[in-house]
Amino acid sequence: NDVLRLEGIAKTYKQGEPGEVQVLKGAALNLAEGEVVALVAPSGAGKSTLLHIAGLLETPDTGRVILGGEDATGLRDRARTGLRRDRIGFIYQFHHLLPEFSALENVVLPQSAAGKAAAEAKARAESLLDSVGLAARMHHRPAELSGGEQQRVAFCRALANAPQILLADEPTGNLDPATSDTVFERMTAIVRETGLSALIATHNLELASRMDRVLHLKDGVLLPPQAT
Ligand code: ADP
Ligand code: ADP
Repeated sequence: NDVLRLEGIAKTYKQGEPGEVQVLKGAALNLAEGEVVALVAPSGAGKSTLLHIAGLLETPDTGRVILGGEDATGLRDRARTGLRRDRIGFIYQFHHLLPEFSALENVVLPQSAAGKAAAEAKARAESLLDSVGLAARMHHRPAELSGGEQQRVAFCRALANAPQILLADEPTGNLDPATSDTVFERMTAIVRETGLSALIATHNLELASRMDRVLHLKDGVLLPPQAT
């Protein structure tokens, strides 16, 4: 029961131009329902490219992206956007919250964009923020929150539309080690409770080892640790 399958994903930037870089060369992966997988790779190896392809933000040159059994590879822009909004939550190293809006509004907005009624969206945002310990901070703007709090808000925003899959690109990479650890613990606990599937890129091998499975991105393909 795979929520996400990547088959033979290849991606080259600047094809045929100076600076051509062949980032992915047939990367493949199966993400089962409720599975939490670590994606480990050195900087520049193509983690962001892979996550963007999995999240339908970029298209591969060859290969297939299958979401919940549906081949998303050939979809038109509108259908891709819809599928992404319904199925996928993103979180990045930097929070990318809207600075002029409160934490609560930042979690409400993607729900409003998806057509949810205001009261319902607000109730869900409050409940999500409460679950990450931010009940007392939801009316603060991002600049009034600590780095760990900002990432917790970004996590709530990623979950706002109840996705099936969380794609995380170094979600605690900007935080000091102690904060990173607590934020990470909280995030993964909620991922587990909700039965969400997650693909989490990290440099931190200790954090990676706590996930169900670790995949290394090396020379454009994904490999289990023993093969690297
Ligand atoms: P990572 O997330 O592992 O650091 P990226 O996926 O961001 O790696 O990038 C992989 C390689 O592709 C890098 O060499 C990067 O410079 C290159 N790259 C990424 N995006 C582009 C782009 N839009 N145009 C050209 N090169 C790119
Ligand atoms: P950290 O030590 O995690 O970096 P900070 O020192 O930035 O945290 O903030 C400590 C606490 O003070 C946090 O809970 C944060 O929400 C609150 N805080 C920080 N800046 C402001 C502000 N300008 N207005 C209101 N609360 C703030």
